[in-house]
Amino acid sequence: MSLIAEIPAVLDAELIRADFPILQQEVNGHPLVYLDNAASTQKPRAVLDALAAYYEHDNANVHRGVHTLSVRATEAFELARGKVAALFGIADTAELIWTRGATEAINLVAWSWGLANLRAGDEVLLSVMEHHSNLVPWQLLAQRTGAKLRFLDIDDQQRLDLSNLDELLTERTKLVSIVHVSNALGTINPVREIAARAHAVGAVVLVDGAQSAPHLPVDVPSLGCDFYAFSGHKMCGPTGMGGLWGRRALLEAMPPFHGGGDMIEWVELEHSTYAPLPNRFEAGTPHIAGAVALGAAAEYLAGIGRDAILAHERTLLAYALERMSGIPELTVFGPRDPAERSGVISFTLGDVHPHDLGTILDAEGIAIRAGHHCAQPLMRRMGVGSTARASFYLYNTPQDVDRLVEGLGRARKLFGL
Ligand code: PMP
Repeated sequence: MSLIAEIPAVLDAELIRADFPILQQEVNGHPLVYLDNAASTQKPRAVLDALAAYYEHDNANVHRGVHTLSVRATEAFELARGKVAALFGIADTAELIWTRGATEAINLVAWSWGLANLRAGDEVLLSVMEHHSNLVPWQLLAQRTGAKLRFLDIDDQQRLDLSNLDELLTERTKLVSIVHVSNALGTINPVREIAARAHAVGAVVLVDGAQSAPHLPVDVPSLGCDFYAFSGHKMCGPTGMGGLWGRRALLEAMPPFHGGGDMIEWVELEHSTYAPLPNRFEAGTPHIAGAVALGAAAEYLAGIGRDAILAHERTLLAYALERMSGIPELTVFGPRDPAERSGVISFTLGDVHPHDLGTILDAEGIAIRAGHHCAQPLMRRMGVGSTARASFYLYNTPQDVDRLVEGLGRARKLFGL
C-alpha cells in the first residue's frame, strides 16, 4: 500500500532524476533505488560534463604555465573555488583550501595546527558519535604530543549530551572537533552553541561538515566555528575532492602541512618561504578536474536550492518513518524530533544481521549501507555491532521509500519474523 498521494511535492524529484544518468539503470533485474547517499552521492550530467569538458578542452597544469591552456586551467580551477565558497557563504576565497576530502581536511588541521599548538596536558574535546576521520587523527596527535582526548556522550535518542559540557570545557581545552551531522544516525548537532561555549574558554573549533554540506543550507561563517571540513563526493561532486575552510588569521599562523611545488614562494637548499593562502596548503599538482567538477556541483545544488533539498529529504524521512513504524521488529536509531535529523535512517530488523538485510535488498536493486559506518565507538555505545542505513538525497522519491519498505517486508518473511 502506498500513501504517496498524501505527500506534498517539495522538489520534482522525477525531473531531477533525469539529470543523473546512473539512476537510469536496472540492478539485478530491478530499477535501481539508490539509498546510500551518506556514503557517496551520484553525479548530475552537469558535473560529468564539466569533468569531460575540462579534460577535452583546458587540461594543463595550473599556476605555472604562460601558455593558453595553463591560463585557462588556472582560471577554471580558481573560478571553481569561488563557486564553492559562494555556496557556503565564504567571502574570502583564500580561506578555502582544496583537499582530497573531509578526512584530509581534518588531518591538515591536526598535523599543522595541532602539532604547533598542542602540548602534554592540553585537551581535545570530541564526541562518541564521531566518524573515524574525526577520531583517528586526534588519537595519533595525542600520542605524539601527550595531549588528552575527552568525549561528549550521547543521550537515549543518540543526541549529543551537553549536560556536562561546562565541566568538559576548561582552560586545558585547546580544540573542540565535532561532527555537524552524524553519518551513522543523521543527528544534527547544535554546533553553533558548542562553538560559542568552546570559544568562551579560548578553544579553537573544528566542524566536520561531511554530512551537513550536502544536506543543510550551511552558511559557514554563521556556524561560529574556526575550521569547517567537507567532502565533494557527498555533494554531487567527484571523489578525491573536498575542502577545508579556516579563519585567515589561524591559517596564516599555521605551518605548512605538505611540502612541495606550488606551496612555496622561494626555495633555498636548506630552507624555503611559503606562498600566501590558499596555495600554502596545496602542495603539488592539485585535482584540477575535481575542483572544476566540484564547482559545477556547487552551482547545481545552489540552482536547486539547499532549503528545498532539505525540505524534500525531510518529507521523505517523515514518509519513510511512518511506513517503517508498521514493521514491529524494526528499531530506528536517532532523535525522534525530525527537526533534529537529516535524511538518514539507521535501523535494525529484529536480530537479522544488517549485512544480510543489505544483500537481500541488493538482490532487488535497492542500495543501502550495512555496517559500523566508520563509527565503531558509536556502535559500541549504542550496544549494537552494526546497523542498516538508508539515506536520502534530492533525487530520491516516495516510490523509493515504498520499494525499501516492501523489501524489508520480504526480508521479514524470509527470516520468519
Ligand atoms: N566525516 C563524516 C561524518 C563522514 O560521513 C565522512 C565520510 N563517510 C567523512 C568524515 C570522511 O569524508 P571523506 O570521504 O571526504 O574523506
